[in-house]
Amino acid sequence: MEPAPAPPEPAAAPAADAAYEPVRKALATYLSPDDLEQIDTAYRFAAAAHAGQLRMSGEAYVTHPVAVTGILASWHLDPQALVAALLHDVTEDTPVGMEEIGTRFGAVAAELVDGVSKLDRIEFQSQEDAQAENFRKMLMAMSRDVRVILIKLADRLHNMRTLDAVPSEQRRRIARETLDIYAPIANRLGLNGVYRELQDLAFRHLYPLRYRVLAKAVQAARGNRRELVGKILEAIKRRLSELAIEAEVQGREKHLYSIYRKMREKSLSFSQVLDIYGFRVIVRDASSCYLTLGALHQLFRPVPGKFKDYIAIPKANGYRAVHTTLIGPYGTPVEIQIRTREMHQVAETGVASHWLYKDSGKSLSELQQMTHKWLQSLLDLQSASGDPHEFLDNVKIDLYPDEVYVFTPKGRILALPRGATAVDFAYAVHTDVGNRCIACRINRELMPLRTELRNGEQIEIITAAHANPNPAWLSYVKTGKARSEIRHYLKTMQYAESAALGERLLNRALQALGVNAGVIEPAAWDRLMRQGAAKSRQEVYTDIGLGKRLAAVVARRLVTREDEPRTLAPVVIRGSEGMAVQFATCCWPIPGDAIVGSIKKGQGLIVHLADCGAIRKSRAAKPENWIDVEWEPEPGRLFDAQIRVEAENHRGVLARVAAEIAAAGSNIQNVGMDAERGAYSSLYFTLQVSGRVHLARILRRIRRLPEVSRIGRTRE
Ligand code: MN
Repeated sequence: MEPAPAPPEPAAAPAADAAYEPVRKALATYLSPDDLEQIDTAYRFAAAAHAGQLRMSGEAYVTHPVAVTGILASWHLDPQALVAALLHDVTEDTPVGMEEIGTRFGAVAAELVDGVSKLDRIEFQSQEDAQAENFRKMLMAMSRDVRVILIKLADRLHNMRTLDAVPSEQRRRIARETLDIYAPIANRLGLNGVYRELQDLAFRHLYPLRYRVLAKAVQAARGNRRELVGKILEAIKRRLSELAIEAEVQGREKHLYSIYRKMREKSLSFSQVLDIYGFRVIVRDASSCYLTLGALHQLFRPVPGKFKDYIAIPKANGYRAVHTTLIGPYGTPVEIQIRTREMHQVAETGVASHWLYKDSGKSLSELQQMTHKWLQSLLDLQSASGDPHEFLDNVKIDLYPDEVYVFTPKGRILALPRGATAVDFAYAVHTDVGNRCIACRINRELMPLRTELRNGEQIEIITAAHANPNPAWLSYVKTGKARSEIRHYLKTMQYAESAALGERLLNRALQALGVNAGVIEPAAWDRLMRQGAAKSRQEVYTDIGLGKRLAAVVARRLVTREDEPRTLAPVVIRGSEGMAVQFATCCWPIPGDAIVGSIKKGQGLIVHLADCGAIRKSRAAKPENWIDVEWEPEPGRLFDAQIRVEAENHRGVLARVAAEIAAAGSNIQNVGMDAERGAYSSLYFTLQVSGRVHLARILRRIRRLPEVSRIGRTRE
């Protein structure tokens, strides 16, 4: 929020110190004295920088960064984040520059402050998908350090708490933006408390009248039903203590905004919404969660199909708990969440719980790795979860785990596929930039053009007027645009040049087979040209140089002896060849499957199952396009395979199947489920396997489960 113009008299320092005192006390409960002293220094620096500035409420401006720091302290964030929170408005509103922050408080704090100010500069005007997409990209670019977003959310939370002082039109805009952008992000990051509070605050400022009416009605209704709620609570507590399950049982207050949303979206009346009661049971460990569930299902009848096991399969934001709905007295539905203390902590503070301050026991790079891992898992799981009304699920998230977001020197964001290099970036900026590039700077450091780009990096391409594309780029570029532009250039390049390159590549491939190019007999060349419909050796070389033929395949053909023309030595597939070898998505071959390959111009070798239905016709029509391929005995990576499991709708089936998969040493890439049909449902898993033997071992384990009626590999 912008401060009001500075008044002539500086704000009284003691009032600000009074605001800092309680925050300092909270910090003292978990920071070391040294760290605390650093925070004190940052506070004095911020107070001096903001001296004389007032908030719209009339308070000294520095009370705002102090309050933001207080929120971060309640999440136990580390000293660097706390320093950055204290200084987060300093560079925007005062003459202090980023460099000064860097020298005084270290590079990390300065980077965090820089990240927060960059976020401040984005304008969110509408709910349009384009805007959403833009924001997501920004979020990703910033996501190399999640603390930036944590600080931003705390900043927004405090601004929302003090929104009354802001003129009404601005207030509506900020409230709208909070509801559309910040609350969903808090939710996505698993910061449940912040999410609910932001929503309720935004609701109050956006629709003051509706808020007041609803608040009153809820208050009255709660008074009327206190007795019934008390009864249910008592019954639950008694049953759990009879079974000696140590548990804390809480009645769960529904938030006003979620009541409002439910009424609107499902066209429910107020009494219908309020007829749902929520309880939360917090127990000691995960197995007690299931014990509690069993106990409660005996106490009240469960509603079929309402049971969810987020312990076995956590939500994308890390949320874990067991949910069920029971039919309480008078037929009232009762929603129950069962979780451990630790799961509760994660549910309330989400990603912040990954940043818990641990007495400087962890280095920053470890923390960053943790963040990265967490984000990666979030990205991987994104498609498997979620309420369809959630903001982030509205955008095309399935495209997203495979992208990196990087900045141009002017701050424009470009999205590129994961693994893209500086050359891809150059061609994404402009064809001429790509064709003329000779070097690059990544975050101001000179780096090789083949460097893989990572989220949030700033890329600058250095060009030279007479530079040309290098054919070797073809071996590492990832984007179609770069590939086709380079090819286009090479095609128009001197014939001799690409032929020379092709000859070099072929000689290298022959060497890999232990053959010297000089000993290849002319007959072998003739046969190759006949089979490949090439007119001359030069043409074969040129084709290789232009990437139309695979040097490895040509080399194989040349060394195959003439007296066995039908049995060309199969090309061996390792799985780690990169772009030159691709696995067909119509049949998902895995090691152990019988396979064949076809060479497609410009796409390299495509591997299919030998009995793949999609290729039957083309194999019959043009057998010369197909070559024998076989797997290397120990392929260098894992492959995706998909299975379908039909199982009885029993509680915990998913958990048990998942446990068997894990026990068989496989990772679950994705889980899907068909709508329940009677007593059975179909579960779909995408698994990572090393090959057929591994897959068979997994299937065998799952088949042993009594609930499983059918199981098999699928190709969907
Ligand atoms: Mn601020």
